[in-house]
Amino acid sequence: MAERQAHIGVTGLAVMGRNLARNLARRGHTVAVHNRTSARTRELVSRFGDEGDFVACTSPRELVEALQRPRRLVVMVKAGAATDAVLEEFAPLLEPGDVVMDGGNAHFEDTRRREAALRERGLHFAGCGISGGEEGALHGPSIMPGGSAESYRALGPLLESIAASVDGEPCCAHLGPDGAGHFVKMVHNGIEYSDMQLIAESCDLLRRVAGYEPARIAEVFREWNAGRLDSYLIEITAEVLAHPDAATGRPFVDVVADAAEQKGTGRWTVQTALDLGVPVPGIGEAVFARSLSGHGRLRAAARGLPGPARPVLHPDDAARFAGNVESALYASKIVAYAQGWQLLAAGSAAFGWDLDLGKVAAIWRDGCIIRARFLDDIRAAYQDAAQAPVTLLADPTFAEALHAAQNPWRHVVAQATELGVPAPGFSSALSYYDALRAERLPAALVQGLRDYFGAHTYERVDRKGTFHTRWGGDR
Ligand code: NAP
Repeated sequence: MAERQAHIGVTGLAVMGRNLARNLARRGHTVAVHNRTSARTRELVSRFGDEGDFVACTSPRELVEALQRPRRLVVMVKAGAATDAVLEEFAPLLEPGDVVMDGGNAHFEDTRRREAALRERGLHFAGCGISGGEEGALHGPSIMPGGSAESYRALGPLLESIAASVDGEPCCAHLGPDGAGHFVKMVHNGIEYSDMQLIAESCDLLRRVAGYEPARIAEVFREWNAGRLDSYLIEITAEVLAHPDAATGRPFVDVVADAAEQKGTGRWTVQTALDLGVPVPGIGEAVFARSLSGHGRLRAAARGLPGPARPVLHPDDAARFAGNVESALYASKIVAYAQGWQLLAAGSAAFGWDLDLGKVAAIWRDGCIIRARFLDDIRAAYQDAAQAPVTLLADPTFAEALHAAQNPWRHVVAQATELGVPAPGFSSALSYYDALRAERLPAALVQGLRDYFGAHTYERVDRKGTFHTRWGGDR
């Protein structure tokens, strides 16, 4: 077995690892495969062995011995302690110059720690974000590799061969050292939270204000998907809305408990943004909206509180309202991505990654969950780093779109408020837009209050320096 020198090894053969290994094998790479529980390895080879050249390994040592030097080993195990355990197991078996890639959903700080520890042992550690779910892993995910330039020289050609692509350009590119790849994947997921929240609010408004049934809303989404909102999430929203429940025949969305779950990457995004001092209220609202939905007792306690009477619109007005929701969704989406890109820029500056912000948009154009036509415009906005906008909102293409969308956007937020339909994503996005364009913010009064009760001092608009007022004389 050891003489069949595999190009790459994969350990961890649950859905993601298995599909990634199959994707690699289908592209002509010899893949050594291993899983803690050998039954998974056997199953992979017996079910999919004819798809390519697999080398089944029953132990870490066997896997390491099956690999060409410098070795390329992909770890696809459960994120967290399992990744540390697997790295501890493999590191002593590897040699300086070998490359270990973690394709799990690791926190970027863990990746920074692991990269530093393995570097001490002469090993290259590439923390690599992968998006697209199990189907993406098999047919072409978006891949976000971090790590040393050497690690990318070894891994890049293989990863690029299995990634999704747009016009022949792979949705995979080296992003920067240590945690850069996992940071970018985290922000991807944060934006995904925002995107999904905005879509869910759009559906809620179309149902509760326009009076559309799920099947009609699915048609609206299909129409939207043919325009500027064209994206994977809009496309699958139409599918989910049109899907009848097999057991009852009712719309699928009406039989699903309305409590959204989360695995934690949205929360990480918000926590990181707080640490870096970057406002990402849209992502925050999306995380909190999921959290609120799961608080059954809290919701039950408040269910009887009064709200406005909720007339459903006349059909003629409903069609116009649906058009306004499309504008509100598009404008809020621009804001969500603007916030995500602020965080990418701040992470890059804080950790010295020199992220190419246009490249991030380019590799998200296909394969990942937030893939969308819209990312072409973001890529264009960051094409020339010297001319890059401070915020996407100020990029001429997006500024023009916001200008055109702002009236319907305001109308939708106002109508949602008047009719008592929660739209935290839309309202927060609009507030962010209005806050950024404001000449003066009420933060001046906040500074005054802080100086009053805590002598926290303030700066003035007309003089340099730090000031403190002796409020009420000698207190
Ligand atoms: P998973 O359910 O997250 O993890 C199961 C795998 O981890 C199995 O192979 C399991 O081995 C192995 N494992 C767990 N603890 C271990 C330990 N202490 N030592 C050795 N192996 C251990 O699998 P997954 O859904 O395929 O995801 C794999 C990674 O990709 C995760 O980090 C996940 O977050 C990430 N990811 C997942 C998706 C997705 O859509 N599912 C998308 C992107 C990224 P046994 O079979 O022996 O239990």
